Amino acid sequence: MKKLNFAHRSLVAATLLAIMAYAPISALAAGSIVSIVSRDPAGFGFNDPTPVAPVGGNPGVTLGEQRWNVYRYVADLWANELTSSEPITVSAGWEELTCTASSAVLGSAGAYNAWYNFPNAPVTNTWHGQALANKLAGFNLSDGTPDDGSGYGNVDIKTQFNVNLGKSDCLAGSSFYLGFDGAHGTDIDFVETLLHELGHGLGFQTFTSGSTGAPYAGLASAWDRFMLDTTTGKTWTGMTDGERAASALKGRKLAWTGAQVTAAIPSVLSLGVPQLSVSTPASVAGKYEVGSASFGPALSYPGMSGELMPVVDQANGVTGLACTPLSAVNTLAVKGRIALVDRGTCTFSIKVKNVQAAGALAVLVADNAAGSPPSGLGGTDPSIIIPAVRITIDDGAKLKDALKSRSRTHSGVFVNLGVDMSMRAGADPSGRALLFTPNPYQGGSSVSHFDTIAFPNLLMEPSINGDLGQVVKAPKDLTLHLLKDVGW
Ligand SMILES: [Zn+2]
Repeated sequence: MKKLNFAHRSLVAATLLAIMAYAPISALAAGSIVSIVSRDPAGFGFNDPTPVAPVGGNPGVTLGEQRWNVYRYVADLWANELTSSEPITVSAGWEELTCTASSAVLGSAGAYNAWYNFPNAPVTNTWHGQALANKLAGFNLSDGTPDDGSGYGNVDIKTQFNVNLGKSDCLAGSSFYLGFDGAHGTDIDFVETLLHELGHGLGFQTFTSGSTGAPYAGLASAWDRFMLDTTTGKTWTGMTDGERAASALKGRKLAWTGAQVTAAIPSVLSLGVPQLSVSTPASVAGKYEVGSASFGPALSYPGMSGELMPVVDQANGVTGLACTPLSAVNTLAVKGRIALVDRGTCTFSIKVKNVQAAGALAVLVADNAAGSPPSGLGGTDPSIIIPAVRITIDDGAKLKDALKSRSRTHSGVFVNLGVDMSMRAGADPSGRALLFTPNPYQGGSSVSHFDTIAFPNLLMEPSINGDLGQVVKAPKDLTLHLLKDVGW
């Protein structure tokens, strides 16, 4: 029986030791198996005395109280879904995390202690987060073991969130919304954010490095035996480090094989994967991956068919940004057709609005940075009524090549923008959930999330989406089913 303590790996934990010198407060709601222990000092974080008005069902009258109430609320959402004879201890704190005026680290969480070869472990020589290991063992594995001096010996999950979020130098204007009702507007819903992060801490993570493929301390994680490279037929436990690292970069080719998730998928994910099909000319015919837009109509079956024409409004004679109303020549080219424009300079919705005004049926936005599969198109504009998608920079170059021999009104490149009804959005052709495997690798996001193509959106995608519902199981979500696959 062996224990791994993640505190020993980071400077962040060293800082926290000092904070622990302040008196901790804790709360275990009656009947709840999830307890929360604050490590915030007086006047800070959970103890911030700033007066606030109750919001969205959160009755707190200080900022600190409201933050604490959300923690208790979310802890109980999880507690209602999990069974264990052992309490789950969450160490919680607010910290000054990395910020600029336009971006911020919201927070992070993970299992703090992990074990292998404990009593009743379902597989040998395999790391399990402590909350899960305690459940499987039937007793608190940390009881009676010497404390490592950190003061965190019994902590199962450690969380930290950005105390400055919303200030002028920290994602200005976007604070954590602390109501329980999801009415977050342009703020960031803290209930959903915390629900997601506690999901990681409960077991929605691998301790194996996705960037190098190296298992932590040479041992697999409980998660690894369910990750399948669908191009090689190997799971992560049967691969070399190099094969694992390579599979982490294969977009939409790393599938979760757990039976609980697979059984739940038909009731959760919609049929139809967004795609671009090119029928002619033969040189570029085939299916292309697309990233969907958060504005405009969703792609559908049988989709929008038409002739592809580019917008060209830059001096190089190749690219078209469509950031201003289209010229007469460009309008003539795209009217009644599907337009190809380039990413850059202005927002996606501005481009699509300009192309829509010129009479186009749909828009492809070619990326201006390498990477695959294509990300979505962010933004909002309720006046947009034509579909739009992103394609990769490589696919954009390929299509532009085929468009070179066009006339002013015809290209001979015919495409369909729609959905592939043979698959569910977020599942592979065999109906297994896809994990997030972008290229290049995204530290902190790759592998330990569901793929962003999932629709409806899932709690454990790498970004929090607006259409989640504080639910962790079917028919709304797959998170609980994955946790059951790993042993919950
Ligand atoms: Zn996450």
